[in-house]
Amino acid sequence: MYYPYSWLKTLGRLTLYFLLVILLGLYLDGLPVTLTIATLLLLALHYWNLYRLNRWLWHSKKMTPPKARGVWEQIYEGIYYLQRRNRNKRKELGALVKRFREGAEALPDAAVVVDADGCISWCNRLARIELGLCWPEDAGRRIDNLIRHPQFVEFFHQGEFSYPIEVTSPTNIEKILEYRIMPYGDKHLLLVARDVTRVTQLEEMRKDFVANVSHELRTPLTVLNGYLEMFNADMTAYPPAFMGKAFTEMTAQTRRMQSLIEQLLILSRIEASAERVYEKIVDVPTLLSAIKIEARTLNQEKQHKIEFTVDSGLRVFGIETELRSAFSNLIFNAIHYTPANGVIQVGWRLDKKRAEFFVQDNGEGIAERHLSRLTERFYRVDKARSRKTGGSGLGLAIVKHVLTHHNSKLEIDSEVGQGSRFSFHFSPELTVVDSHASNQN
Ligand code: ADP
Repeated sequence: MYYPYSWLKTLGRLTLYFLLVILLGLYLDGLPVTLTIATLLLLALHYWNLYRLNRWLWHSKKMTPPKARGVWEQIYEGIYYLQRRNRNKRKELGALVKRFREGAEALPDAAVVVDADGCISWCNRLARIELGLCWPEDAGRRIDNLIRHPQFVEFFHQGEFSYPIEVTSPTNIEKILEYRIMPYGDKHLLLVARDVTRVTQLEEMRKDFVANVSHELRTPLTVLNGYLEMFNADMTAYPPAFMGKAFTEMTAQTRRMQSLIEQLLILSRIEASAERVYEKIVDVPTLLSAIKIEARTLNQEKQHKIEFTVDSGLRVFGIETELRSAFSNLIFNAIHYTPANGVIQVGWRLDKKRAEFFVQDNGEGIAERHLSRLTERFYRVDKARSRKTGGSGLGLAIVKHVLTHHNSKLEIDSEVGQGSRFSFHFSPELTVVDSHASNQN
């Protein structure tokens, strides 16, 4: 309850009190004594209330004030009212700070608040994980004593925070963090660290990719350019045999460039593809018989024995153009990388409710150290040999992308001198079995 203080009322009460005392003094015929006693009584009453106030403020655990009357009732209620108001304000402030901290905890970045002396005032959970800070142990410690990377220390001390820096994480050297510092308020700083490892890697990959493509295109262009310069000088100076060889070489180099560009286009089409795998059923047996004809043409020189074992009733949900690329890349690789008269087995079968495709050859095989890198773009075990076969180093990268799109994974088993087996499975959800037609041929 709010009691507005009225000095008139207080004065009125005091006047009435002393009027009564004077009357009593006159009646008892001892005014000075009565007045002295009445004043002492009044003083004692105030001292008593002062004592109770002191006890309530400092020693009592009760929130409600002691009972009193008159001016003291107003004082007690006033203090009680102020206390309640402060308590509510504190609660509101506490809730605000809590909400702010929860918001900062939910940030996807590490955040640290640093005071004017460079000491940590607060940090969020990600800062503890990414920057290795301990909370509350590190409160008040200098940030540059805890993040000691020279580049960060220099950045922190130079005081120019208009651009971010990228530095390895103090907890994991494989990670790259981007540090940003934002000054705010009374010389305080907000340090935000973001994990940019993936972005940096992608940027590296992009640079490598451009460098690789340029390199791959430059080599055939240099050959073509060489011949063209020679012919430009004097075409009649060369014998027909040399001219024939030159034209064969130029045609081969042009085909190489063409094939590289085609592969690049397939790769980018797969990457950008928004087609859904679950919409269409691909008739893999028909697809494989088309690839079989192409394989026969490609096999004319090496005369491998190629055996196709295909379950004619087994189909899958998927994207036909992509699957054609994946199947043919694996089959043509086996033809390319198996010495003449080899044996290549191509299989399409049901394996524990999952459709399986495999290509097995008895070629030279691949050393273990290369296996994990084979699906990287432009990765080739033997660059010179691969180029001779017209390989761009993109075939298995295409296969990997296609399979990722179809929720599958390329499995490679290979042993040097024994041969290789490339295979993959489609999940039961993508596998379609036509039980009437299902048989091997
Ligand atoms: P390329 O276009 O050079 O064939 P790929 O990505 O298709 O590129 O293959 C990458 C490398 O994997 C090839 O350069 C080759 O060294 C190796 N490779 C692929 N398939 C086979 C295989 N069946 N036998 C041996 N090595 C293979």
